[in-house]
Amino acid sequence: MSEEEAYEYVKSTLKKEGITPYRSDELEIVKSVESCINCGLCIQHCPVVAAVGVNRFSGPRSIAIELSRSPPEFWATADTVYLCTGCGTCREICPKNVNIPEVVNMIRARIFEHRPDLVPKGLHIVREVISKYNLVFEPWETKEEKIESRDMRIERFRLPLIEDPKLEQAEVLFYPGCQAEERSQEVREAAKVILDFFDVNFTVLDEMSCCGLPSNLIGDHETARFLAKRLQKKVKKVDAKIVVTTCAGCTSNLSEISERDGWGIPAIHIIEFLAEEIGLEKIGSAVKDSAGFSDVHVSVHDPCHLIKHTSRQVMQNALDLLQQFPGVKVTESEANDSCCGGGGMVAYHSSDVANAVVKENLDAIQKTGADRLVTPCPLCTVQIENNLFKSGSTVEVDDLTVFLAQRLPRKR
Ligand code: SF4
Ligand code: SF4
Repeated sequence: MSEEEAYEYVKSTLKKEGITPYRSDELEIVKSVESCINCGLCIQHCPVVAAVGVNRFSGPRSIAIELSRSPPEFWATADTVYLCTGCGTCREICPKNVNIPEVVNMIRARIFEHRPDLVPKGLHIVREVISKYNLVFEPWETKEEKIESRDMRIERFRLPLIEDPKLEQAEVLFYPGCQAEERSQEVREAAKVILDFFDVNFTVLDEMSCCGLPSNLIGDHETARFLAKRLQKKVKKVDAKIVVTTCAGCTSNLSEISERDGWGIPAIHIIEFLAEEIGLEKIGSAVKDSAGFSDVHVSVHDPCHLIKHTSRQVMQNALDLLQQFPGVKVTESEANDSCCGGGGMVAYHSSDVANAVVKENLDAIQKTGADRLVTPCPLCTVQIENNLFKSGSTVEVDDLTVFLAQRLPRKR
């Protein structure tokens, strides 16, 4: 009997008791919890605790100790475990490397499996959409409606239209993610403008499907694995050497599953691709005469899925990139690396919590005196933009991919 078969056998025998045994990779996470020295640093730095208080969200340490309960009692955490935004701050600050975001995922998966009635309704709705369309949002009813929306958005953002390459195989596979595919289409179009400008041999999928991060966060690991496998087949067909994304969440998730499932190629954010494969000098000389753009004072937001789940270097690349633009002044806010509240699927069922978390960012952005915020993630863009607007602020928000594409000279 293989290790996997043995695991499945034990799992089926324990199913009636409402227990899912730990997989070997999960045992590592359980062990990390045992090393906790109860210093409380994670609680002090958790943005959800800071935003709503310990009475509403008891905090990372208390979620971690749930693992010492007997598994059927995980249900007791249902009120708390769905309020974690998965920002990764607790894991970064912890002196004992306790992996709390993964503890949250493990508990959510067990609640999903044995007590789906305790999963917030908003997450069940998303799960149904994913099962039906393999996307996190309902797709446009017709192709024409989607194109009409795309054209309105590229006109508003002053972007040219680069048709999707029809290449069946290419060096680079550009993967936009569900948000840029179905909603923030300007981000998808901006990435194509950039890749085309620098003569990158790239293509896109003929049919987009989700990378599986939302299913993973809902606790539906089976669907997450199904989507990962589906994507792996498509990536293989394209025979790409690298996957390039514009979404922070897709970047961290795809790089993790590429390693876990042996894709043999990296998945990176377009900012990292530009810094490493194109080079700042070349980008600088391309944007040096950014025509039609007046001087602008920007502040920057660092997406958690880049800095705390991938690498802080990506945001250093972003800052270096912004230095190349003439007339662009950058002021980092006091809360540039604080969670925007848009992660962990919290906004789908407790938008009051997600919006309370972003407040720290809004106040800090206002203090910089910047007229624009840029961030390399369409999800953070929407979360911050909506909340700035609601607060009456005049600060505008741009996805960094769009900000760059707008300033490149037209090729044709
Ligand atoms: S920061 Fe780490 S060691 Fe300290 S209480 Fe939190 S989990 Fe425990
Ligand atoms: S991942 Fe972020 S929101 Fe979740 S417990 Fe840790 S610090 Fe708090």
